[in-house]
Amino acid sequence: MNPDHRERRRIAISRGMLAEAPEVMARLADGSLQLPCTAFPLSRVGKAWARTGRSRAPSSWRIEPSIHQNVIGERKAMQKRALVVGLGIAGMSAAIGLRQAGWTPVIVERAPERRTGGYFIFMFPEGVRAAADLGIADHLHTRNPEWRPGGNSWSVDRRGRRKPALGLLDAPSGLAAVLRSDIEAALWQGITGDGTEDAVEVRFATTPVEITEGAGGVRVLLEDAGTGKQYLEEFDLVVGADGMRSSVRRMVFGPDEDYLANWKAMICAFQMKEQVPTYEASDSIIVSRPKRAMWVFGLADHAPCAWLTYRTDDIPDRFAGPSIEQVRAAFSGMEDDPVVRHVLDSLEQAPDHVFDSIHQVKMDRWSTGRVVLVGDAAWCMNTYSAMGSSSSLRGGAALGTALREHPDDLAAALDAWEVGLRPYITSQRRSARIKQQRFVPSSRPVQVLVSGVLDLVRRVVHRRLAAEFTAAAAPTAAAVPSGRTR
Ligand SMILES: Cc1cc2nc3c(=O)[nH]c(=O)nc-3n(C[C@H](O)[C@H](O)[C@H](O)COP(=O)(O)OP(=O)(O)OC[C@H]3O[C@@H](n4cnc5c(N)ncnc54)[C@H](O)[C@@H]3O)c2cc1C
Repeated sequence: MNPDHRERRRIAISRGMLAEAPEVMARLADGSLQLPCTAFPLSRVGKAWARTGRSRAPSSWRIEPSIHQNVIGERKAMQKRALVVGLGIAGMSAAIGLRQAGWTPVIVERAPERRTGGYFIFMFPEGVRAAADLGIADHLHTRNPEWRPGGNSWSVDRRGRRKPALGLLDAPSGLAAVLRSDIEAALWQGITGDGTEDAVEVRFATTPVEITEGAGGVRVLLEDAGTGKQYLEEFDLVVGADGMRSSVRRMVFGPDEDYLANWKAMICAFQMKEQVPTYEASDSIIVSRPKRAMWVFGLADHAPCAWLTYRTDDIPDRFAGPSIEQVRAAFSGMEDDPVVRHVLDSLEQAPDHVFDSIHQVKMDRWSTGRVVLVGDAAWCMNTYSAMGSSSSLRGGAALGTALREHPDDLAAALDAWEVGLRPYITSQRRSARIKQQRFVPSSRPVQVLVSGVLDLVRRVVHRRLAAEFTAAAAPTAAAVPSGRTR
């Protein structure tokens, strides 16, 4: 337990002393709580009070912290414990869901500290709803730019001409634009709690190295990367939330090759220091060509994020050599375009970036016995689906609900969770192939077809948005018109 956590727990314990009094007294009375001998006189008082049958302890009575700690300790011991592997969006969501279901989650994270990095992410209404279910919606900062007449998304053609485009946020489905770190921060607030005893224990630089299921629990050999120390611990459930290349999946379900489908494509994402010259700060820009595309996502109160993707057959070679050179090679011949030039130069200046191959994870079953996978470890739908965060939030919240509804039957809870969630995941996974064509067309004819269809849709959508903008501005026509927040 880190010192911060210990202090919060100490405060929570002393705050909760009186609230726990009836429970302490009742347990003293039935003999289920053994007091340390130093507290013996108090146990007599407790027994006397229990005989009175009063439901509240008189306010003048005081309980030693050590006794209270004992009660909490014993109550915690009665709660089921779950090991959550991975402090990503799926892991934190699952931990909050478990806590809501009355479990005690412990999170282990391979990294030595929180991973707050990441770039532009969409949150779909399912994700926003799940955030509310997890109680973190109030902590979530969103960054949708205001829509303005004419739109704020542009596509750039081969001659460098820009024309209005259908922005991903123009859809009426209520998408929220966030940075991954916005969701991470909201969830972190959720798991650390508000200074109460409910804070989830997090162990950094810790990984599982062996997972063995026994009759009544799962024995996990954990390794502390700092000290190299290995230790065994038993849990009632292990939740693998350790991403697309999950080690829990490898240890319990089998090798990556059995589950990872290679999409023969790469992605590179990073935060830009500044917008492409001549564009508004919150504009989005699309440069889409057959097999390679570059998207600049504009945000309301943050510099834009760049997202580059290209199709390629030789994935293994793509990791040889510096990633920036790989990306430059993939976009060679397009540098005449000022947008492309600016984005590639921005990549060189960015303090960090994500560069990875694109896969989907497909499993027929997400759990076995007392081990369950969530998020990318179980169903990574990949970056084209744009559903990674929303589905992870939803998966974690739903796991909590299933465990709450089946408190004494883990198998039934995991069945119900999977039956409820799978249809949604399957449909999203399937739609990723179509979305990929929008993000990066596979050929010139597909590009022409996709852009033609999107342009028709844009006309309809922008007409509606323009009407809404005018209506919203009308009552204050004399004042400065305010934009519509999407
Ligand atoms: C730093 C970072 C930046 C990202 N940026 C983007 C982005 O810009 N755009 C986007 O679409 N998606 C991004 N993603 C992925 C996106 O967050 C996920 O696809 C989605 O949220 C599902 O998350 P997840 O929790 O299932 O997996 P992940 O986000 O991959 O989280 C898995 C966590 O498990 C930890 N872990 C892995 N192995 C072990 C182990 N053996 N023991 C303990 N812990 C382990 C990892 O360090 C990580 O914290 C990013 C992920 C990370 C970690």
